[in-house]
Amino acid sequence: VPSHAGLYTPDEPVVHLDRKAHTYLLGSRSFWVAEFYASWCGHCQRFKPSWSGLAEDIKDWRPVVYLGVIDCAESSNFETCNEFGVEGYPTIKSFKSFTKEVSQGVSEDAVHSVQALRENIITRLEEQKDSRPSSWPPLEPISTFEVENFFKTKQENYLALIFEEPSMYIGRETTLDMVQYEGVSVRRVLRDQNDMVNKFWITSYPSLVLLSRNGSNTVVNLKADTRSSYTDFLRSLPGVRKKNLFIIGVANNGTTEQDDRRIADSTKLYMADLESAVHYTLRAEVSRFSHLEGERLDALIAYVSVLRKYFPARPYGTTLLKSIHSWLHDRAGKEVLYKDFENVLNNKDEAQNAVLSSSVNYVWCQGSHPNFRGFPCSLWTLFHFLTVQASEDTAAPPTEVLLGLRGYVKNFFGCRECAGHFESMAAESMNTVNTLDEAILWLWDRHNRVNKRLAGQPSEDPEFPKLPWPSKTLCPFCQVEDGGDELAWDIPNVLNFMKTHYSRQNLANDYLE
Ligand code: FAD
Repeated sequence: VPSHAGLYTPDEPVVHLDRKAHTYLLGSRSFWVAEFYASWCGHCQRFKPSWSGLAEDIKDWRPVVYLGVIDCAESSNFETCNEFGVEGYPTIKSFKSFTKEVSQGVSEDAVHSVQALRENIITRLEEQKDSRPSSWPPLEPISTFEVENFFKTKQENYLALIFEEPSMYIGRETTLDMVQYEGVSVRRVLRDQNDMVNKFWITSYPSLVLLSRNGSNTVVNLKADTRSSYTDFLRSLPGVRKKNLFIIGVANNGTTEQDDRRIADSTKLYMADLESAVHYTLRAEVSRFSHLEGERLDALIAYVSVLRKYFPARPYGTTLLKSIHSWLHDRAGKEVLYKDFENVLNNKDEAQNAVLSSSVNYVWCQGSHPNFRGFPCSLWTLFHFLTVQASEDTAAPPTEVLLGLRGYVKNFFGCRECAGHFESMAAESMNTVNTLDEAILWLWDRHNRVNKRLAGQPSEDPEFPKLPWPSKTLCPFCQVEDGGDELAWDIPNVLNFMKTHYSRQNLANDYLE
């Protein structure tokens, strides 16, 4: 595997960037520092112990800070290293979270001291003032006001105050050492914050004071006032627990894991996602109903009819959708057993033709963790795609697709709460849709409302935050500044963008089985 053939072994806490350098370093919620090296270069070999030492030293700062490595001597990485403007080795570049462009990476000195490298990261983190992800801990000194109100506004059981000289780093280092833990917040207090220094009788720096929710304040006396003794002490407090965070390269059981996530381009549409949605709806969701009749059967027929007309399946898929549709159509008004429907789906007679994909296979919709994205993402994608495809057929009834989708969601979508929300949006306004273009826009607008409602919820994939879509990067002329707090949209541009993004021409066939 080329990714691990370089200077760093897979079990080191560094991320092998390789072909995913753009995906990792740009638009991330984390702060990244990447080393671009060449495995043959002597300087790089001499620098290696420092970078490995730093990685080990700050591995608990993940997922706030990640270190990445990429071997520019590897032919599959030539292009990436060129794109990142690497001219000599080793080149160290840092990327603030949400950095958009390759050119925004900041070159750093490849100094050999782990301490200097670590302190530089802290300085960079502090420089990122305006666009810090909310999950990052604050690094600035805490104010008296914040201390007084801490337990009123926060859920933690403890507040650890580290009193230090302004030039010291131990407060911020300990804060970052504790990012994977909950139950305690760590903040620094500077020597010149007299009211707090006097209140706790602090005379030496650093010093650790522990405040607890039950009102006790303790100046903690440990054998040594060092970063590791502070961290060990705080981690051992009752009720302080490790959070269940997703960390690139670390499996749930804590062992090192190869990152096998796929490379997906946000500007593309992946056939593998669309096929996954079709597969999952017809096989997994519909199969929950062993008998289909009445409104539910009608809804299935309408949904399959929309797929048959507008889904550009691969050749055998088209044949299959036709035969499913006509099979169902013949049974309208009767009762259908899912097992019979399944036989048609599996197309036993023409077994030589593999037709519907037999498992999910997400690309753009692959989450950073199996809990995230996946099916609902693929379903939205399929729905938008179908509204756009229908708009190319001027004879199509304006609400045909929306009604097909609405019936599907109402009768089959396994997330019942989602289905309820969607149905109430549909009942409220779907009847205002009079044209095929309005159908595209209706779904776009409703999806954005759902995004707004779900932003910041635990179901949000931290690597794919729910933001108004399309972003400025995807469509520079869709969002217009109107000076107010609310985003304003240029609707004709949004419509054009939807028609381009969800077009057949934009379909990519990567990762298809
Ligand atoms: P998704 O929101 O699934 O979006 C998938 C992709 O579509 C995005 O990555 C982006 O490329 C594109 N996109 C994003 N916004 C738009 C837009 N406005 N127009 C066009 N394309 C866009 N979850 C809940 O917790 N509660 C709910 O009530 C709920 N209701 C849902 C209703 C429906 C009909 C569906 C299909 C899903 C619903 N979900 C709900 C799931 C939720 O909306 C997301 O699908 C899920 O959280 C996965 O999110 P995601 O980050 O993959 O992006």
